[in-house]
Amino acid sequence: MTDSIEQKTKPRVVVLGAGPAGMSAAWRLSELGYPVTVLERDAAVGGMGKTIGLGKYRVDYGPHTFHIRETDESREVLAAIRPFFGEDPLILTRGTRVLLQGKYYIYPLEVFQVLLGVNPLLALRILVDYATATITSTFAPPKKEDSFEEWGVRNLGRTLYDLCFGIYSARVWGLPTSQISSKQAQRVAKLNLKNIILRALGIAADPATYFTKYMYPRAGISELFEGMAGVVRASGNEIKLGATVTRADCEDGVIRRVAYVQDGQEHVIECDAVLSTLPLPALVEMTAPALPEEVRAHARCLRYRSLKLIYLVLKRPRLTDYHWVYLLDEQFRVNRLSEQKNVSDEMVPKDRTVLCVELSLWKDEDLWRASDEEIYRLTLRDIMKMGYGVTEDEVEEYYVTDIPTAYPVYELNFEDHLIPVLEGVHEIRNLLTLGRHGLFLNNSMDDNVLLGMKIADHLEARGPADSQTWKTDMLAFMNLRFQGK
Ligand SMILES: Cc1cc2nc3c(=O)[nH]c(=O)nc-3n(C[C@H](O)[C@H](O)[C@H](O)COP(=O)(O)OP(=O)(O)OC[C@H]3O[C@@H](n4cnc5c(N)ncnc54)[C@H](O)[C@@H]3O)c2cc1C
Repeated sequence: MTDSIEQKTKPRVVVLGAGPAGMSAAWRLSELGYPVTVLERDAAVGGMGKTIGLGKYRVDYGPHTFHIRETDESREVLAAIRPFFGEDPLILTRGTRVLLQGKYYIYPLEVFQVLLGVNPLLALRILVDYATATITSTFAPPKKEDSFEEWGVRNLGRTLYDLCFGIYSARVWGLPTSQISSKQAQRVAKLNLKNIILRALGIAADPATYFTKYMYPRAGISELFEGMAGVVRASGNEIKLGATVTRADCEDGVIRRVAYVQDGQEHVIECDAVLSTLPLPALVEMTAPALPEEVRAHARCLRYRSLKLIYLVLKRPRLTDYHWVYLLDEQFRVNRLSEQKNVSDEMVPKDRTVLCVELSLWKDEDLWRASDEEIYRLTLRDIMKMGYGVTEDEVEEYYVTDIPTAYPVYELNFEDHLIPVLEGVHEIRNLLTLGRHGLFLNNSMDDNVLLGMKIADHLEARGPADSQTWKTDMLAFMNLRFQGK
């Protein structure tokens, strides 16, 4: 069956994926009068930034708040999407903590709190190690790429790094941190002991990294992307849900048609441009004729870390006072706990709280295939260790769900694979990639809304078939993010 998008004067655009990046692109292009079709495998829009129903509760698919940064880019994004947050959005002050050796510390770390919280000998070791690391790194010869561990030890000293990043990061990424690229530190790039001390004295604050405010729509994060979907539909464009993209047919260096399966039937849609937010390894395997084997081989080396999300409904009004808590100590198997009610208390009844606990895994390990009951028991054991006196009787219900491609993994020198893949796919003149998976960039929703807005401007300025300029712009953009800017 062949669908055809109503031919308007502008090029016909097919957007692959209805997450934050795809929806933002579709919304902006719809406003600019483009005929757009969005193809989304899921039954709802929002991608990872969606709100899901669990029995009688509604919760986000992992904790999701929208970052407010003190940058021009952030102000531009927020001004553009402000209507989608509803009349009276919540403005939250970042309420995140790390649980370290039985105590809660503010995150990003406040050094005096840590130095005063740990035992005095440990505090002394933190300071001595930091001084040693600073001197050693001054004389170290430059390398092609530092590992995450080298970055951490240089910036924090061995003791603070091990306590606060080493053990936790190895668990999150499933690799020794000596095998992870320092580019993984993009989100905490300004987190070095010198900066922490200056910040504690009120002298240095890096606006890009140290955002302290969030905006949140009261009924759940997906309000934002449902709002965008409303604009897309109101302009006569279509969002096809339950539509799994299977093939992109190329002729003469451009994609002419995209195939997708919906309700068990294959459909084909004709197009002038394709904007893809799909994981790069999947996209590479979808193009017909196939991309060169070298590109496909590089794409197979790009790995994703998967997540199980375990939700516990507790028969108590609240567990913590925090948006989320990182569990740093070796005794924990799960990474992070978040409490939906602490973000919006309108989503959970007064006498109940819903926790979301994250467990990082590789898709080929046994635990990924374990029963929900097994995963729940492992989670409950960790929650019981947190010191809140949680008992099994308090758990009213539990739910286990997963995100198979949650985090692009930056193995050491991963760009040796990533760059040839980005170059390979953008050889197709009207295929442009964006988003967390389309760029293999561990970025946040605000960044992906920005990219959606940028890609609409790009199409408007340069037409549907200038993937080369887009790729060049994106490589520059990614480099900034890798530097934590
Ligand atoms: C646990 C967790 C917590 C997070 N918390 C925050 C936070 O608090 N704040 C923040 O700003 N960011 C947060 N993020 C990051 C945020 O989720 C991402 O930046 C954002 O969702 C990426 O948007 P995207 O559109 O690029 O990708 P996605 O959201 O992954 O969207 C891609 C879409 O493509 C669809 N798709 C995939 N394959 C196909 C196919 N073959 N056919 C059709 N459709 C397909 C998927 O179903 C999905 O809907 C968090 C991420 C995780 C994992």
